[in-house]
Amino acid sequence: MRCFASILNALLLLSAAVSHAAGDEKSPTYEQQLKIDVHSHVFEDFPALNDLFRRINMRTVNICVPAGDGHLEEMHRAANELSRKYPELYPCIATFDLRGHDRRDYAEKVIAWLDGQFALGVVGVKIWKEVGMEIKDHDGKFVLPDDPRFDPIYAHLAKLGKPLHAHLAEPIDAWLPLDPTSPYFSYYSKRPEWHFHGKPGVPSHADLIAARDNIMRKHPTLVVIGAHLASLGHDLDAIANRLERFPNFHIEVAARARDLVRHPSDKVRAFFLKYPDRIMYGLDVMWKPFGRVTPPSGLERRSHLQMLETRYREDFNYYAGQGTMRYAERQVEALHLPCAVLEQFYNGNARRIYKLDALQSSPVR
Ligand SMILES: [Zn+2]
Repeated sequence: MRCFASILNALLLLSAAVSHAAGDEKSPTYEQQLKIDVHSHVFEDFPALNDLFRRINMRTVNICVPAGDGHLEEMHRAANELSRKYPELYPCIATFDLRGHDRRDYAEKVIAWLDGQFALGVVGVKIWKEVGMEIKDHDGKFVLPDDPRFDPIYAHLAKLGKPLHAHLAEPIDAWLPLDPTSPYFSYYSKRPEWHFHGKPGVPSHADLIAARDNIMRKHPTLVVIGAHLASLGHDLDAIANRLERFPNFHIEVAARARDLVRHPSDKVRAFFLKYPDRIMYGLDVMWKPFGRVTPPSGLERRSHLQMLETRYREDFNYYAGQGTMRYAERQVEALHLPCAVLEQFYNGNARRIYKLDALQSSPVR
């Protein structure tokens, strides 16, 4: 089984070398490019989705999210089951309950829960924006992600070499007045609880970014993945600054290509070329049929698959394609990333960072 991964690696290296030697920077086709979406939420064995992933050469890192709705365990059961049945398609990331952080044995209990998840093969741990933006202490103050009460958990992950997939803070737009021209206008209009502009006593965007920096300062061996362009999509230089300062910091682009296209394409391309080993592909789509009153209809299932396929392909056209295109209602120049950079962005970095080789070694059925 390991052999499959080695052969795959060798073939990939060989094809990169050949295209380099020939000076041929022709991008791989969409189906040729092995792609890992490092940010999705799939909580059902959905055969047509598995078929789609196989057909388009996509795999996904399947992330459990904090379930304030009481579905934490059910969600983990579904995700664990998917990764057990289809390890080559759905490696899984666990999360933990941030409520109860003021109990004396909190960190100990979380570590025991996560150890149970690691025994089932999960490849990392997710932490979500509710810490810093929702959860409060008894005195009414927001709990920040670098709170010392979380340190034993971070230290444990660092010791085990498990990455922390961190969606902390939000795009800067959450701290700005609602702006109809912002790609986040619709989200913050409908979800005012996450729109912090003008609210008294809330942490600033800078406070939350500084808290994440502080986690990395306190735990330099902890691998941190800044989800959603590290909530700094408005400022590529600020991301670069963190990538320079924290060698174990990486980012993924899930749901934030719409921020990338707000920058000049040559700047974005230069950013990818400067940090080819630090950026990963992701989309961030949820499929969570449990807990619904009525199960998804056939039509819903078909439109979900269609939407996914369209968006994956659109993204690929932006990263790998050439020339002018429409993306997120903008006219943009596609990035036309070199083959070797695409390879790292679309799978090499994820395989290294989440240690996916063993999980990938089963041939795709
Ligand atoms: Zn997500």
